[in-house]
Amino acid sequence: MADPGIRDYDYLVTGGAGFIGSHLCERLLSSGASVMVLDDLSTGSMSNLVNCVSNRSFGFTEGSVCNEGLVSDIAAMCRSVIHLAAAVGVENIIRQPVETIEVNVRGTENVLRAAGRKRMRTFIASTSEVYGKGEAVPFSEEGDLVFGPTSRSRWSYACSKTIDEFLALAYSKDRGLPVTIGRLFNTVGPRQTGRYGMVLPRFIAQAAAGRPITVYGDGRQTRCFSLVDEVVSCIIALLATDRSIGLAVNIGSTQEISILDLAATVKARTGSVSEIRIVPYDEAYPKDFEDMQRRVPDVRRLKELTGMAPCAGIEEIIDRILASGIPQA
Ligand code: UDP
Repeated sequence: MADPGIRDYDYLVTGGAGFIGSHLCERLLSSGASVMVLDDLSTGSMSNLVNCVSNRSFGFTEGSVCNEGLVSDIAAMCRSVIHLAAAVGVENIIRQPVETIEVNVRGTENVLRAAGRKRMRTFIASTSEVYGKGEAVPFSEEGDLVFGPTSRSRWSYACSKTIDEFLALAYSKDRGLPVTIGRLFNTVGPRQTGRYGMVLPRFIAQAAAGRPITVYGDGRQTRCFSLVDEVVSCIIALLATDRSIGLAVNIGSTQEISILDLAATVKARTGSVSEIRIVPYDEAYPKDFEDMQRRVPDVRRLKELTGMAPCAGIEEIIDRILASGIPQA
């Protein structure tokens, strides 16, 4: 679907048909940039791109980041790359451990190799998962990463994204690649599906249907939720400054909420009659699962580099999601 007239796109967005990617593409196009998406549509969907496909500055290629030749060919047509393609959601990661590791490691390797050839401005999406089960909140980019044993498959995700970061930084140091790593904390908003286990779209879908809102564990674990529009602004702002080159940067809100309070807030905001049901971890996840208790970013580096950080409150976020329709779950 690439416009044959365009050979030179401003951005390659891998995973552009996903939840965050599609919001990013819309924003880039609305700023007048041209965008080529590479996505295998495994968890992303063309329906996320309805607002992009008719734009003549938009191109789409269906394919995997694991296909080295394809990544190289597509990257050759673009000036910079935003690499978002990765395994999505805790459920998928536990169910498909081989694919998770392969797509995260090989995909990023292919993107960095292709970007390295032209020294393209590059953004690699990493995740707050890399902090593992560290307890030193707020998590700072220079803090230690703490993982569990290899027998627990959840940590393979954290480790594979950590390898991505090491590789990106090695390309920056050794090959002069102008690369920035963004560690995305829990990002939410319109179009996010609950199908891969993400808590907020699941809760909203459950509340809207009058089904029990399923809180795992004791519900005292906390997360900080960021509105996708703000996360997109941060990614673009980080790419716009050379001062972010060679750095990993947290991208997230610092407003912490327990999952139990999140359930109550969703229930109140939707006017739902749903019960809030506590589900023990061993019923919710396979036996070897370990959850993180707290996950709060230190956003000093992000603010210092961009002058911004996500700050929308959870009620505003829920209202924005509701205004765009009930999420799939
Ligand atoms: N969670 C929950 N009910 C659900 C789905 C998730 O209580 O139906 C919990 C989950 O155990 C975790 C938190 O919500 O403590 C956030 O889960 P999510 O998968 O959205 O993100 P992550 O664990 O990667 O931060």
